[in-house]
Amino acid sequence: MDLTLLYRGPLESCDYDCPYCPFAKRRDSPERLRADRAALERFTGWVAAQTGDELSVLCTPWGEGLVRSWYRRALVELSRLPHVRRVAIQTNLSCRTDWLAAADLDRLALWCTYHPGQTPYDRFLAKCHQLTRMGVRYSVGIVGLPEHLEAAQRLRAELPERVYLWVNAAEGRSYADPEAERWTDLDPLFPYSRRPHRSAGLPCRTGESVLSVDGAGTVRRCHFVRTELGNLYDGSYRRALAPRACPLAVCDCHIGYVHLETLPLYDVFAGGVLERVPAAEVPALRRAGSPGATPRTTGPHAPPVTDSERIET
Ligand code: SF4
Ligand code: SF4
Repeated sequence: MDLTLLYRGPLESCDYDCPYCPFAKRRDSPERLRADRAALERFTGWVAAQTGDELSVLCTPWGEGLVRSWYRRALVELSRLPHVRRVAIQTNLSCRTDWLAAADLDRLALWCTYHPGQTPYDRFLAKCHQLTRMGVRYSVGIVGLPEHLEAAQRLRAELPERVYLWVNAAEGRSYADPEAERWTDLDPLFPYSRRPHRSAGLPCRTGESVLSVDGAGTVRRCHFVRTELGNLYDGSYRRALAPRACPLAVCDCHIGYVHLETLPLYDVFAGGVLERVPAAEVPALRRAGSPGATPRTTGPHAPPVTDSERIET
């Protein structure tokens, strides 16, 4: 079986204090940290034992995982398993990078986010250059707030061309066309993020080939639909795997809508769906034209919701 697992354990703490994040500077108790470590080690052990499956894993902690030794260790261990195609994690890149030398870099990848105001620009850029020198596969992103535009422009100019810079629409923010165009100049795929995607009743790979797993092993189709499909560790989730339509009105987060079958994102990100690395480099994406230039109102593509219809999820 070919499965993608989105893992999120109990960890909630972060070393950063982003004004747009509910997990900013949250502290985990020692008990919670111990539980998080035990949960991740259990998950890693389970993955290691599934030698009959092909697995891909994206760790999506609420807080920052890579400042904890057990996340670094898990990423290295998982990357060295022959039946793991890809292991990736969302990170603010505040961690050291030397540990990556022990990983299989054909399988490990990083989804890095730059948070202006939390770390000096030059320090973040230097980390990116270290990753490039080490041969680590990674994407870099930023939240599309006006006060981030200058840093995003610098990053785009100073990162290697083959490193994809993505821009996430800020939660609750509507983008008028001139502003959206500025972000699209930096990230040709920004139109996918600009508005939530209508998803009600549309086929989505989650629940069949993509699953969300929490620290207790509870399996759900994705992080946003709370219905439980079973448990990873007793095998009960397997009986529940089936094609399913999305039960929610909209899907507003890349780690969700990338799996919508009505969007072409498995082709756009072929080979890099988890770490958000497109198959084509940015100049080729630009030449292909922005997806926003083609109204997604016909064929299998559902139209994105308009700003006046925007619903927060
Ligand atoms: S780095 Fe991420 S988890 Fe930490 S405060 Fe910022 S947005 Fe939240
Ligand atoms: S479209 Fe989004 S919310 Fe709906 S099932 Fe898929 S990932 Fe979950």
